[in-house]
Amino acid sequence: MQNRSTILLIYTGGTIGMELNPGTGKLTPVNFENISREMPELMRFDPDIKTVSFSPPVDSSEIGPEMWVRLAETVEEYYDRVDGFVILHGTDTMAYSASALSFLLENLGKPVIFTGSQLPIGMLRTDGRENLITSIEIAAAKINGAPAVPEVCVFFQNKLFRGNRTTKYNVEYFNAFRSENYPPLAEAGINIEFNYHAVNYPYGDKKLKVYRELDNNVAILKIFPGITGKLLSSFFSTDGLKAVVMETYGAGNAPTGSWFISEVEKAVSRGIFILNVSQCTTGSVDMNKYTTGRRLQEAGVLSGYDMTTEAAVTKIMFLLAQTSNAKELRTLINSSIRGEIK
Ligand code: ASP
Repeated sequence: MQNRSTILLIYTGGTIGMELNPGTGKLTPVNFENISREMPELMRFDPDIKTVSFSPPVDSSEIGPEMWVRLAETVEEYYDRVDGFVILHGTDTMAYSASALSFLLENLGKPVIFTGSQLPIGMLRTDGRENLITSIEIAAAKINGAPAVPEVCVFFQNKLFRGNRTTKYNVEYFNAFRSENYPPLAEAGINIEFNYHAVNYPYGDKKLKVYRELDNNVAILKIFPGITGKLLSSFFSTDGLKAVVMETYGAGNAPTGSWFISEVEKAVSRGIFILNVSQCTTGSVDMNKYTTGRRLQEAGVLSGYDMTTEAAVTKIMFLLAQTSNAKELRTLINSSIRGEIK
């Protein structure tokens, strides 16, 4: 007989655990016990489910580096006692949290599945019930006795994605997440079909390493027609700024006028790392394709290739906290450290 799997369910907040406040008519986070009350089958589920709850539960807009480290530490604390983790999280910043966790957890050998919902769990037609149950099943799934998906993932509607490849793109429908540049790691229908070739399995028997530091002296700059040199100048002069994720057009293009390039060059010469990611959600930055991209490369801008903005921002926060060696940082920013780049 097979041993029962043990899953740690970490509840951080978000719509999945919201209820309607009759006084204000607004959705407010409820305590985890209310989720269990709404879903008594959770307690009867075949895997043994342990729970940890953020107190108070929060809307995911409130989540940032401090809570990412708390989540990583919770994974570390329970790592040897459970088979997998399911993190209930608001959808708004889930792609950032899943990306951050992927960097904070090195040599991960167990599934860490983020999920949430578009409708609160107690409501008719809620997607929370399916998302939660399938996430638990995936976190408990084994192949040849080992975890089927030992990665930080996002599960939503019927697809399991690598967390650091996801973006929330839909406010309205149940398929809230996309991973345009990497295939799903699993699809749930009548059966759960795992895409084993796309999953990263750990080599050897390396021990989980949990990082506890992130440096958030990072900013996102979205280029738009009409952007001014004055804006760029004051943006790059932000006190303490160490890195910028620059969202450019198409394959990594931006204006080539000296009013633009000179501001970029000045920032690079002050030691600010600038990483070029595309405003398009599918495809990759290729700074050799057009003159406009090449000018950025010559100015010292690094390619973010096919990384999402969410992965780029959290990866830089992670790397800046690990080293201040500029050469090493440039190499690491440009290489895939957790499958976030093709
Ligand atoms: N505002 C909510 C949150 O991200 C939305 C959700 O959970 O879907 O916490």
